[in-house]
Parts: sequence; C-alpha cells; structure tokens
Amino acid sequence: MSLEDLIKAEALSLGFVLCGFNRADTPPHYEAYLDWIEAGHYADMDYMARPNAVEARYDPAKLLPGCRTVISLATPYPVPANTQKPQQNQGSIAAYALLPDYHQVLKAAAELLAQKIAQLTDQPLKHLVCVDTAPVLEKDYAQQAGLGWIARNSCLTSQTYGSWLFLCELLVDLPLMPDQPLTNSDCADCHRCQMACPTKAILPNRSIDARRCLSYLSIEHRGPIPVAFRPLLGQRIFGCDTCQTICPSNQKPQNTTPLFVISERLDPHPDLLQSFLLTEADFKSRYAHTPILRVKYQGFRRNIAIALGNARLEAARPALSDCAANEPDAVVREAAQWALSQY
Ligand code: SF4
Ligand code: SF4
Repeated sequence: MSLEDLIKAEALSLGFVLCGFNRADTPPHYEAYLDWIEAGHYADMDYMARPNAVEARYDPAKLLPGCRTVISLATPYPVPANTQKPQQNQGSIAAYALLPDYHQVLKAAAELLAQKIAQLTDQPLKHLVCVDTAPVLEKDYAQQAGLGWIARNSCLTSQTYGSWLFLCELLVDLPLMPDQPLTNSDCADCHRCQMACPTKAILPNRSIDARRCLSYLSIEHRGPIPVAFRPLLGQRIFGCDTCQTICPSNQKPQNTTPLFVISERLDPHPDLLQSFLLTEADFKSRYAHTPILRVKYQGFRRNIAIALGNARLEAARPALSDCAANEPDAVVREAAQWALSQY
C-alpha cells in the first residue's frame, strides 16, 4: 500500500468519508475569488478581503511555511427529511447548525490524522488544520482532489454523498502524490437551485452574492436585515438550506454520518414564540456547543421577530408589542416593530 493509500485509510477510520491530495499551489478559481471580492459580493464579511487573507488564498505557504500538500477531507452530516416543513408556529434552522459545532469535531479528527501521518512516516509533521478558520479556497482544493464538483449552488457536491458535507483541510509539509479531479460530474442543464433560491443570490459563475443570501443575512450580518429581504426569510431563523434541499444530488438516503450522532441533533423547527421568549442564559444553554451561538442572542431574536411577522402568529402579538416598546437593543426593537406591521 502506498503512503497516500495508508493516509486515506486512516482518514476513513477517523470518520472522514472523502480524502484527497493537492499540491499546495494556487487554486484554479483564485481569479474568480478576486472578481467576487472586487464586485463586493462578500457583503460585510471583511475578513474575506483582508490583504493577508487574499495572499494566503493565493499561496497556502503563507499559512504554513514549507507547505507541500493540501489534504482535503469531508464528512457528511445528518439532515432532517426534506418533507418536513415548519408549521405556522415554528421556525427553521439549517441542518448543519443543529449539531455539535463542526469546527471542533472536524478539527479534533484532523489533528488525529496529522498524528497518524507522523507515525506512518516516522518523522515530525509540520501541519495546520483549517475548518473555516483560515483563508483557504477549500472547495477548489476539494474539487481538484476529486472529492466532488463545485455545483451551481456553490456547494462542493459528491456523487456519493451529495452536498450535506463538512469540509476540512490539513496543510502539511509532506509531498504527496496529487489526486485527479473528477471528469464526469456536473450540474449539466439543471438550474433547480437557481430557480428555488428565494432571493436570486446564486450567480452565473457558481458563486453566491452574500448580500442577497438568506444564510449570510441571518447568520453573519449584524444590524438590521434589509426590509426587502425580510418577507423572503419566511420562518428561517438561522441559515437557509433551500438550494441544497432542492438539489437532485441530495435526494438519496444518507447511509452514514460517522462523526455526528442523529440522536444528538436539535429540533430543526423550534417553537417561534418560545424561542423568542428565551432569556440570554437559556439561549446560550440550549444552543451551547452548536454553530447557532455565532448569531448571538440579539441576532437570534432579530431573526425570530422577522419570522413571527412573516408567520403572523396571533399568540405572539403581546410579546412583539412588549419588545417593540421596551427592548433595549435597537435592531431587535425595530425588527419587532416591523413584525407587528405585517399583521
Ligand atoms: S442559501 Fe438560500 S438564499 Fe442563499 S443561495 Fe442558497 S437558496 Fe439562496
Ligand atoms: S440543483 Fe441542479 S444546478 Fe443546482 S447544484 Fe443541484 S444539480 Fe446543480
């Protein structure tokens, strides 16, 4: 067995289902990334456009001096049946966020893989694990390493596992034989995700205009959500899965989610009014160790207020009125006022 095959076998035993190698060269969509920045499609995620981030995406050795190989890793996460829709009193949370925080879970597994590689080579290994934590064009490397293709909805999509995947990169100073990209996978003439996207955020070059994306607006965006997008949020309170749920590549049953236990998954459709009434301590406790904490308590309440306005839930009127009059946070207060105006 070659060293590459041994490393892949170790990756599988640690809970990754896909593993591939690339030389630590500039990824092929680097120019497209620069165009995306130039066009302002990163919205106010300024960290995407910082000079050191732009440099590191050009050259992974800026992140790990001496980097020779980018190891791309992927593992699937469990997704609720897509027939489930929220009732009028329920919100929707994106599937990935209902689980223990993938940053920590994947980082721990990739660190173990680095240890295994050092044992296999009997040499110290300089390495860096990146799980959305460093400026790496991760989908580009994953596509080049044959894990899948960058689909029209911008997700890395595997023939076997669809796009419900977490990605992770292990940068190493070890030269490894690169894998080949897939040649027979593509979206062909399908445009279902583009047609289903409520805000038409999917651009022709398979990137996303974050300024229009409900996932970005409900998670990353601080401050008021632009009024034009509020009705389009519907009852989403954290993230948006629409362009993945609709994808034919995601219609197969999921056979394996080795790093995530379905029984630990939180309710994808929590009660809106109960969620709105959570104290900050309750919010932090209920969503401890999940990606939902990223939106912070005020952002969560902002989103729920908008969802309540879209659901026009009569039982929530008193709580919204109280919030509209007395809430100290101006963004949440204004969201509640907007919600009441929708009744
Ligand atoms: S996540 Fe939602 S809003 Fe964003 S591109 Fe996909 S369907 Fe559109
Ligand atoms: S819905 Fe169709 S076009 Fe969109 S990502 Fe899936 S296969 Fe590609």
